Amino acid sequence: MPSALCASKKRYRALTRGTKPEAGPNAPVVYWLSRDQRVRDNWALLRACDVARANDAPVVIAFNLLTKFLGAGARQFGFMLRGLRELEGAAKAKNVTFAMTYGDEPAIAIDALAKKIGAKTIVCDFSPLRDGLKWRKELAALCEARSAHCEECDAHNVVPCWEASDKLEVGARTLRGRLAKRYPEFLHEFPEVPDDLPKYSGPALDAVKWDDIIAEALSRGQAVPEVTWAIPGETAAHAVLDDFVNSRMKLYEKRNDPSKPQALSGLSPWLHFGQISGQRCALEAKKAVGKASPPAYESFFEELVVRRELSDNFCYYSPKYDQIEGQKYDWAKDTLRLHASDKRPYLYSLEELERAKTHDDLWNAAQRELRYGGKMHGFCRMYWAKKILEWTESPEQALKFAIYLNDTYSLDGRDPSGYVGCMWSIVGVHDQGWKEREVFGKIRYMAYDSTKKKFSIPDYIARVNALVKAAKADFKSGESSHAANPGLFKINVPAANKRKATEEAQ
Ligand SMILES: Cc1cc2nc3c(=O)[nH]c(=O)nc-3n(C[C@H](O)[C@H](O)[C@H](O)COP(=O)(O)OP(=O)(O)OC[C@H]3O[C@@H](n4cnc5c(N)ncnc54)[C@H](O)[C@@H]3O)c2cc1C
Repeated sequence: MPSALCASKKRYRALTRGTKPEAGPNAPVVYWLSRDQRVRDNWALLRACDVARANDAPVVIAFNLLTKFLGAGARQFGFMLRGLRELEGAAKAKNVTFAMTYGDEPAIAIDALAKKIGAKTIVCDFSPLRDGLKWRKELAALCEARSAHCEECDAHNVVPCWEASDKLEVGARTLRGRLAKRYPEFLHEFPEVPDDLPKYSGPALDAVKWDDIIAEALSRGQAVPEVTWAIPGETAAHAVLDDFVNSRMKLYEKRNDPSKPQALSGLSPWLHFGQISGQRCALEAKKAVGKASPPAYESFFEELVVRRELSDNFCYYSPKYDQIEGQKYDWAKDTLRLHASDKRPYLYSLEELERAKTHDDLWNAAQRELRYGGKMHGFCRMYWAKKILEWTESPEQALKFAIYLNDTYSLDGRDPSGYVGCMWSIVGVHDQGWKEREVFGKIRYMAYDSTKKKFSIPDYIARVNALVKAAKADFKSGESSHAANPGLFKINVPAANKRKATEEAQ
């Protein structure tokens, strides 16, 4: 038997009881691809290949398309579907068939496909979010009822979430050491997906009508149109990574200056959709450390691995990750309650916030960057969310508005790091108590006056103005211009997945 591609048995675990992986020439292994939408560097796909190789079986990748998902619009659906279209071709080159199922009950749809093609083993990737956990549980129950085997494999984190810790961590300082102990076991190169798997030859699967489903998703979500600078898919993701580690990582220590956006990797949209593996990014960054500097590399690694995996830890072990009660510690909940009736210096409605109609030019620029660029600079995200706490009626309303705006406009929204970012800013998650003040209580405050000493606010506003102008021109022409990219970095691929932009309702 060939040696296992997914070498560590701790990366995956059974979701069904009393079953074991079974497959054969007429019983393909199904990989239900959901969070990790790539062929390269994907432990869940590699695990499916292991079961298939051991049984001379083919692999079928199944993806279930929902009609709606946590407020995602054309911007996010377009990015995802165009990325999946590329994935179908990459899978085919490895003899792996891609199938699409449809509907808002993914477990039922995936199980029905598995039954139709005679599959007795389904491998899922992992998500710590409520919907993902619920769907996998439902799928496991359906599998168990017909004695089929279902397992999940964490292909998103370097150290599988449940292996990194069995409890809610206090913060980065407690998770960092736990992760570091496990890097020798988990932080290593990926094997290639084999290209000698038997080809699927079971009952015919419907060809995916990409043009039709993309057009439908764009029309349904047209209130938030696509951003044309963001080229979706694995090829573009690797081009962004390559450009960052070889040319821009050396700037990473300037990452808190929004007027120099190239200092950030810009990778979050591709990481969010799993179009690139975080582990791949960490490995390539390490190889390129000589072109940057050890501190730049270390800071990048800290964000990419420690902070990102801390977000999964929070969402997994705190199911109310997007609500005030999701904060475990009383100091934060008590202080917010104590200051709930403090007079707010300004009060804005959701619509005023959405349209960037506040008195604060920095906040308005950040909101416009999000709305027109599809991604807000990381430093501004903190300021932006904290001001929402200051200018709305209650912490509950602030959290609701921040998550709504982030998930509606950001390409990387609906992500554990987004919920944790909002909870850190507004509810003090992973933070400590600070000097008490109005509205915030002991939650960390950020002031315009101290922020303006950190970077040039006029330079940032000028950059956002240029971005909005370029984005509006792109919406009209369908072209993709460099100035519309919030990160101002190059994506060195032919715009194979060219997007047709629609004009945004003003
Ligand atoms: C209010 C608020 C909302 C946020 N919403 C999101 C979101 O919806 N999606 C999202 O991916 N991140 C979110 N973040 C975290 C962080 O701001 C973004 O990951 C980062 O700005 C993405 O840009 P980048 O890839 O250029 O970052 P880089 O600095 O180049 O970082 C590389 C990668 O590290 C990870 N990372 C960086 N910073 C953090 C962090 N603080 N917490 C967790 N992971 C991090 C991300 O995966 C990121 O892509 C939010 C933060 C705040 C304060």
